[in-house]
Amino acid sequence: MASDNAITVLVVEDDPVDRHALGRALDGSPLEFELLEAETLAEGIASLRANRVDVVMLDLGLPDGDGLVNLAAIQEADPRVPVVILSGRVDESIALEAVKAGAQDFVNKVDLTTESAVRVISYAIERKLTETRLREGVSELEHAAQVDPLTGLLNRRAFLQHLDRVEQKSRSERLPVSCAMLDIDYFKHVNDTYGHPIGDEALRIVASLLLHESRAGDLVCRFGGEEFCVILLNTDERAAFAWADRVRKTLAETIVKTQRCDLQVTVSLGVAQASRDINALSELVDKADQALLASKQRGRNRVTTYSEVLSSREVVTEVATDETDRTTLGELAYSPISCLLLTDEISRAADRLLELRVPAMPVVDGAGRFVGLVSEKELLQAIPEDGHWCGTIEKIVDRTAMGFPSDAKLSFVREFMIRTQTAQVAVVLEQRPIGLLTLEDLLKRQRDAQTAHRLVEAV
Ligand code: GH3
Ligand code: MG
Ligand code: MG
Ligand code: MG
Repeated sequence: MASDNAITVLVVEDDPVDRHALGRALDGSPLEFELLEAETLAEGIASLRANRVDVVMLDLGLPDGDGLVNLAAIQEADPRVPVVILSGRVDESIALEAVKAGAQDFVNKVDLTTESAVRVISYAIERKLTETRLREGVSELEHAAQVDPLTGLLNRRAFLQHLDRVEQKSRSERLPVSCAMLDIDYFKHVNDTYGHPIGDEALRIVASLLLHESRAGDLVCRFGGEEFCVILLNTDERAAFAWADRVRKTLAETIVKTQRCDLQVTVSLGVAQASRDINALSELVDKADQALLASKQRGRNRVTTYSEVLSSREVVTEVATDETDRTTLGELAYSPISCLLLTDEISRAADRLLELRVPAMPVVDGAGRFVGLVSEKELLQAIPEDGHWCGTIEKIVDRTAMGFPSDAKLSFVREFMIRTQTAQVAVVLEQRPIGLLTLEDLLKRQRDAQTAHRLVEAV
């Protein structure tokens, strides 16, 4: 009887000579092994289910299974067990394929020695353990990647992913959905006056109020710095306005006692309701953002609806042109930028967007010419049922995305983006993308300029 410390090896091999050879090789080792034998794949799987097996030594040519099928069957029966392929000289290339498919290693039966058997088994066990731990670590990381550490709210990336699901749900249920975008007023001033830690505390207070006021199923997200975005289910624009105004009032009337001082912040909000013909809720977010901009322009500490923005668009654009006319697109766009090739895998594009933390990337053809953009929106729409991307970005690239010359007037580009509901455009020089500009940055730039303008006026 083997002790508890023995390493249990299940050999699935139809040739008794080869099974015996493995048994002899392991017997020669100072380590203790318990050998379980199976002659067919079916026997092997049954044994795997019945015993606590540390490693499987698998023959790829079995009476009831041939080639990589054997590996897949074992992996399915126990995804955690490491597998070493017992190969012959002839099938070494298949053994290599098996390693690519997840087997830990392969060993040639013809020259099996005690040393090679023990080495391959212990490495296989070790490697599988590391692999499993890594995978578990990654899912923890994935979880951490969803949540903003300061406030505990969804971060923007996770929010945009959830948005897709909410959209499908609300469309099928035919219920109204609204979005509220919130930005803390003169937050830079809060930081400058009281310090960053107090600023952080204010962010947490706003976050917990939003959570408290929202309902189960609503999405509450820290959209960026001191901006928050909430998706309100089963809520039309009027109800969204009432909700947002309650949040605004509560904050304006609250004096927050922090460790160092009493603090009061006000916020501005914009709300919008999804229209029936809207394609993606991300457009709804843009609308709420435009309404928020209007709240800022109207003096802050207030709520504006997108409907109001539409009815007073002339006023908004008039203010917009002042400063933005003096700036060109090239001066404001992100650069240098990294591009994707049409032939890049979709999964690679997703990794790059995540890695570079950009909302979109320009795509070029083999000659480096601008073809279009790939943004989170295209990626989200390309996720198939099984959740795994396959294929190149060629089939998802948004070829209608615009490339503007770098000397284009910002006011012109802004108007274009708002009218066509475009979230981002490329800056192009001689057909090559040299920058990227998002509507959000454009609007923010404008907001900053107006703040500066107000300060100058106040002095
Ligand atoms: P406005 O009323 O126009 O929104 O003015 P503002 O000062 O709030 O706007 P602006 O966007 O210019 O400034 C945002 C500030 O938010 C600048 C940045 O330092 C601060 N901020 C962003 N993230 C954090 C954070 O995590 N913690 C703290 N304490 N401050 C942050
Ligand atoms: Mg065989
Ligand atoms: Mg602000
Ligand atoms: Mg802001």
